[in-house]
Amino acid sequence: MKKIAILGATGSIGTQALEVIEEHSDKFQVEVLTANGNADLLIQQAIKFKPNVVVIADKTQYKKVEEALWQHDIKTYAGEEALAQVVQMDSIDLVLTALVGYSGLLPTINAIKAKKTIALANKETLVVAGELIIKLAQENQVAILPVDSEHSAIFQCLVGEFNNKIEKIYLTASGGPFRGKTREELAIVTKEQALKHPNWDMGAKITIDSATLMNKGLEVIEAKWLFNLQPEQIDVIVHPQSIIHSLVQFEDGSMKAQLGLPDMKHPIQYALSFPERFSSQSKRFEFMNYPELTFEKPDTETFFNLQLAYHALEKGGNTACILNAANEIAVDAFLKDKITFLQIAEINQQCMEKANFIAHPTYEDYVATNTQARSIAKELV
Ligand code: NDP
Repeated sequence: MKKIAILGATGSIGTQALEVIEEHSDKFQVEVLTANGNADLLIQQAIKFKPNVVVIADKTQYKKVEEALWQHDIKTYAGEEALAQVVQMDSIDLVLTALVGYSGLLPTINAIKAKKTIALANKETLVVAGELIIKLAQENQVAILPVDSEHSAIFQCLVGEFNNKIEKIYLTASGGPFRGKTREELAIVTKEQALKHPNWDMGAKITIDSATLMNKGLEVIEAKWLFNLQPEQIDVIVHPQSIIHSLVQFEDGSMKAQLGLPDMKHPIQYALSFPERFSSQSKRFEFMNYPELTFEKPDTETFFNLQLAYHALEKGGNTACILNAANEIAVDAFLKDKITFLQIAEINQQCMEKANFIAHPTYEDYVATNTQARSIAKELV
């Protein structure tokens, strides 16, 4: 039995992970579940999966959770500190980080220090502090297994390749709901339109990031750290059908790709079961339903968040941390109708120009950068 902690159990990735665990209840056991404020769902999940511990980050919800779970013999804690500490429990084998944004950083650092295998959905952790996280994982000999479908695809292509050199990788992008739109058209799109992703059903933040192409930019940065690549080795290709999840091109020009219907349960299960593959009841790909797989270049003039991500990689230091913080504030403001869709990338760019650059940041520098960039972005909003 692999004992699993799910950080962000009530979200899109967290709930799908629980479905995977339910399908393989002879192999996985839930040890810890956490949520931010959704006490009702957390309680339901805890009663069903009987974890040892649950944590609710929002302390105002603690009483409700505690009252519902004490008679089930489940320990309950509240607050950010509890969330950051619970990952160190001896009984945990693997931590699935499915929180949103910067909030994933400290729990991931603590889990690595406690030598837990990480199944990483929370890409923002690597965007904010990739260098620090990878160094820490190497020092502690901890595996970081990608959950993001593109990175899982690359990872699956690399199994068995040992030290064979990667020439480059291609991250595929669906293009999101606004593929092909001009800046004039984008000036008036609403959050309701932006929240309708053509191929994937995901949490609100990543869905907006997909519409602005920021998600692909964050994935470029994530790929750099996961696979030790230079920016020029990472290319993005728009593939609207989302069947090819990404590709690796080796030194000899040969390319390997990983394919399947868009279904996050596949990469989640692979990260949990690695190095094995377990059976799955998921729908199979039918060639005749997809007689054409098509490819386009991304429009980085219109969706310039992707350019900003490459710029952050090239500049290095704390630049990606600044971009991530600005983007979290800007997306939140867009979802609250405070700014327009195009202003998200504008705020990101201006914040990158205004925040202090630090070439070799420590953990404390990342914390300070995150605070400063958020405050600049809030002023810009
Ligand atoms: P959701 O918004 O659906 O869920 C987020 C989860 O994290 C919820 O359980 C939420 O709790 C919890 N949470 C949010 N903020 C905090 C916080 N400040 N402190 C503690 N807990 C918090 O997100 P997704 O599942 O879509 O995404 C999770 C991560 O996975 C993101 O980093 C995303 O980029 C990445 N990812 C997601 C994919 C997807 O298909 N959804 C695909 C690839 C990557 P509550 O419900 O109580 O608010």
